[in-house]
Amino acid sequence: MKKHWGWGLADSALTEQEIRDTVPLVIEQLGFGGSEVQMPVPLESAQLPAPRLKPGDLADITVADRRNRAVHALGKAYRDVVRGFRGDFANAPDFVAYPRSERDVERVLEWADTQHAAVIPYGGGTSVVGGVEPRGLEAYNGIVSLDVSHMDRVLEVDVASRAASVQAGAAGPVVEEQLKQRGLTTRFFPQSFEFSTVGGWIATRAGGHYASGPTHIDDMVESIRAITPRGLWESRRLPASGAGPSPDRLLLGSEGALAVITQAWLRVVPRPEYKQGASMRLPDFAAGCEALREVLHAGLSPANCRLIDGEEAPGDDPRPLLVLGFEGSLDVAAELSAAQRICRKHAAEDIAESAADSWRGAFLQAPYLRDILVSVGVMAETFETATTWDRLDGLISDVRDAAQSAVIEVCGRPGRVTCRLTHVYTDGAAPYFTVLAPVARGEEIDAWDAIKVRVSDALLAAGGTITHHHGVGRDHMPWYDQQRPEPFAAALRAAKNAVDPAGLLNPGVLVGLNHRRAAD
Ligand SMILES: Cc1cc2nc3c(=O)[nH]c(=O)nc-3n(C[C@H](O)[C@H](O)[C@H](O)COP(=O)(O)OP(=O)(O)OC[C@H]3O[C@@H](n4cnc5c(N)ncnc54)[C@H](O)[C@@H]3O)c2cc1C
Repeated sequence: MKKHWGWGLADSALTEQEIRDTVPLVIEQLGFGGSEVQMPVPLESAQLPAPRLKPGDLADITVADRRNRAVHALGKAYRDVVRGFRGDFANAPDFVAYPRSERDVERVLEWADTQHAAVIPYGGGTSVVGGVEPRGLEAYNGIVSLDVSHMDRVLEVDVASRAASVQAGAAGPVVEEQLKQRGLTTRFFPQSFEFSTVGGWIATRAGGHYASGPTHIDDMVESIRAITPRGLWESRRLPASGAGPSPDRLLLGSEGALAVITQAWLRVVPRPEYKQGASMRLPDFAAGCEALREVLHAGLSPANCRLIDGEEAPGDDPRPLLVLGFEGSLDVAAELSAAQRICRKHAAEDIAESAADSWRGAFLQAPYLRDILVSVGVMAETFETATTWDRLDGLISDVRDAAQSAVIEVCGRPGRVTCRLTHVYTDGAAPYFTVLAPVARGEEIDAWDAIKVRVSDALLAAGGTITHHHGVGRDHMPWYDQQRPEPFAAALRAAKNAVDPAGLLNPGVLVGLNHRRAAD
């Protein structure tokens, strides 16, 4: 059973005393944080609107209890965690449907059409961009959250082609457990792996474990099967195809606005036999970027490659930490050595592997830690982008400045703004920023929204994208609108009109709420 707010399961929630015990550590680490610990509003006292619609013929696959409605009201961004913490579920769906088959998905869409209800496809609910929050949908008669998590099986494995057919609702550990029995794996481990699902990864073009090479789920998708209000959308299984624009490409990143993804064939790999890693410290971040650019240009493709600000990395060393890892079915020692040699030319110094281990531990614990930070009055949020190497240094410095000055203006004192590179390419890299700041209780949402506008404007002005892997959702729409060409936006509106003429699916995401008028 998921917690009704924040990250994790209900039975993993910390007690007030456990949180209180962490306060001195937080203050020592960050230099700020309130000594007053607040606890979340219990589910029984949370604010949920009365449901407007009853499920009628869908009663056999729906639930409408408080926990389910609350869990499906919000994603997992900082602004979601805060609102859940305060018991604010103003946009809760009327009920949650749990289809067990594609026919059930069709039934929900047919029912929604007759009722003029909005349908929000929901996988693991880990969206950090307002993708699953039914916000601003007053024009609809009601809202259904369509949670596909009961459709979670690996249906078929084609060993010869190294591909697996997986149902969309399978979360990371559920897919991996089933593939492991065949000696296979997706090697796709986003930080949200514990709860995010195959359908969610495809719908948001998620970025996974590989830091170079096949970084996005796009690279692993062989074909997709989905249900639209106008019928089944299934692409052919092919290793490659030059036959016109790809149907899969339109569903990748469609964020629940075009179809409900029900299954996909994913390219899988044998579990790697060889893994080798190393950690290094660089004199400064720019030297680390230069080193990685050269590593990529040398044709090397590290599976793990994280360049982390000294302030964010574990340990007392203020220099940036580089975590490098290679893996494969052949020995990767030579590749690791070659990458290290290049990095040493940029004054990188080898350090003990344990630094990388402790960073990995912190990485996996981060979502749990954020819930504690909310309890002690610390703003904690991340945002990410990608840009070409020629603009990378400028973007990082502009965005850091924008974030830091916005924090001072909004929160009244400096916070901590750190950066790491999460993914690297021959032509650029993906910087990922973390903002930690003291924030007045009750002002968290307005404060973060003001900072988000400033950093998002700075990202676009510096030549970045509004997102490298978190998706667009409702939160990124103003910047997505600015970065996409208008003829493409018109084509997307027309596509939406063709497959979802009544505008039932995730209204307001990718296509504005008034899309029908605009497409005419
Ligand atoms: C702590 C944390 C760490 C994260 N780390 C990463 C990371 O490393 N890499 C990364 O890419 N992202 C990351 N994210 C963001 C998030 O996990 C991804 O966007 C993920 O792909 C969402 O998957 P989900 O199953 O939770 O989808 P949801 O949050 O349920 O939905 C996301 C969007 O996809 C749509 N959708 C979901 N399922 C379907 C479906 N079956 N058919 C059609 N549309 C659907 C929804 O309508 C919504 O628009 C992180 C988030 C958190 C909170």
